[in-house]
Amino acid sequence: MNVYDAERMTDLLAPIGYEAVDIPDDADLVILNTCHIREKAAEKVYSDLGRLRQMKAVRADGGEPMVLAVAGCVAQAEGEEILRRAPFVDMVFGPQAYHRLPEMVARVHREKGAVLDTEFPARSKFDYLPKPEAQGRFSAFLTVQEGCDKFCTFCVVPYTRGAETSRPVADVIADAGNLAAGGVREITLLGQNVNAYHGQARGFGTKTLGKLIAALADIDGLDRIRYTTSYPAEIDSDLINAHRDIEQLMPYLHLPVQSGSDRILHAMNRRHGASDYKRLVERLRRARPDLALSSDFIVGFPGESDADFKATMDLVDAVEFVGAYSFKYSPRPGTPAAALLGQVPDDVKSERLQALQEKLNAGQAAFNQGAVGKKMSVLLDGAGRHSGQLIGRSPYMQAVHVQAPEDHLGKIVELEIEAAHPNSLAGTLLDALPEHENLGASAEAMA
Ligand code: SAH
Repeated sequence: MNVYDAERMTDLLAPIGYEAVDIPDDADLVILNTCHIREKAAEKVYSDLGRLRQMKAVRADGGEPMVLAVAGCVAQAEGEEILRRAPFVDMVFGPQAYHRLPEMVARVHREKGAVLDTEFPARSKFDYLPKPEAQGRFSAFLTVQEGCDKFCTFCVVPYTRGAETSRPVADVIADAGNLAAGGVREITLLGQNVNAYHGQARGFGTKTLGKLIAALADIDGLDRIRYTTSYPAEIDSDLINAHRDIEQLMPYLHLPVQSGSDRILHAMNRRHGASDYKRLVERLRRARPDLALSSDFIVGFPGESDADFKATMDLVDAVEFVGAYSFKYSPRPGTPAAALLGQVPDDVKSERLQALQEKLNAGQAAFNQGAVGKKMSVLLDGAGRHSGQLIGRSPYMQAVHVQAPEDHLGKIVELEIEAAHPNSLAGTLLDALPEHENLGASAEAMA
């Protein structure tokens, strides 16, 4: 979502004359779009600011001011504290305030002193954002939901991103239509708890995420739909049925479980136990047998014993994930778990993380290896590292390299997978799909 938000900030600044540059050294405006989810990410902001302070000073000596901004969830959580620790910062604004960026830039130039905006405005920022454009992309993010009301005891998101809100169905469809008309073929719907999506549909009450996806599947040229991030207890039958019925919905799901221990899941306030999670996975796989699953894990949550950790390892064996993100528990200020007794020593966390990651990596390697010799449709959406090479994504989110002519960019092609590496696949081009097949299920239904 930070990638998406940063793109939108770029869109907002274009009309007042800003364009993105690759390095900060000669930028007139530098925005750090920050993440507060773990301590490491949050602390990185201050080390980056230290470097930027020097660049700003060098530019000032040359008579060229640099405006320095901190955006995102660290800005939201620490506001004034940033201005105290880094008084050379000119702007601090939260994730719900960035639509006011042009006005803030003007204020910084007009007034003395820093601009601070960490309010949650009454009207959604989306009402003020320009329509997203494809800008040469074939795969794009689209925020449909923001905020979270679930209050997992480890998590800062409800405090930094605010309460759950959904964008109206018509707005999402308009944005997706605009992206597809510009050549985008794959859209990933975003939300901190995307399953909480309940968007207003004019005259129809609200639509669930499953129903929204069904509506998006009617958009011409939009061949692939994904969504992230999911909260298991809120996956409903509409969504499960969407996985069964909607061909454009890709057979890959990121479904964070966090732990395999019921005791720990309860202490995390997750509203699912290990067996609920496994049952949900079964239902999803019955709906879409080739569904590939990835997940998030936290090791060393306060009170986690060896037996609790073993339950997590057992769950990984039972579910067979194809990829995962795993983290050492990081106490976050203001969250209930940070104050719990039984904080786990760092060396224990490190040991558990290593064991878990070995298992998860083995699962990923086995999944990639299993693709060798198979045919897969791949959306080619970028240049590879070597000349004549393009790179794309399989339906299961694997990165795939292939030797292919440049005019294949933006096409969904059939590949035969020849080799598997830990983080990617290599394929060879079978025939490029005829353009009508490239329209996906809607064209097939009409034929
Ligand atoms: N639903 C959210 C999750 C974002 S955080 C979203 O999509 O925006 C991503 C992952 O970070 C979580 O699933 C969790 O595994 C991990 N995480 C969150 N808080 C953490 C903490 N305090 N310590 C360690 N890991 C954490």
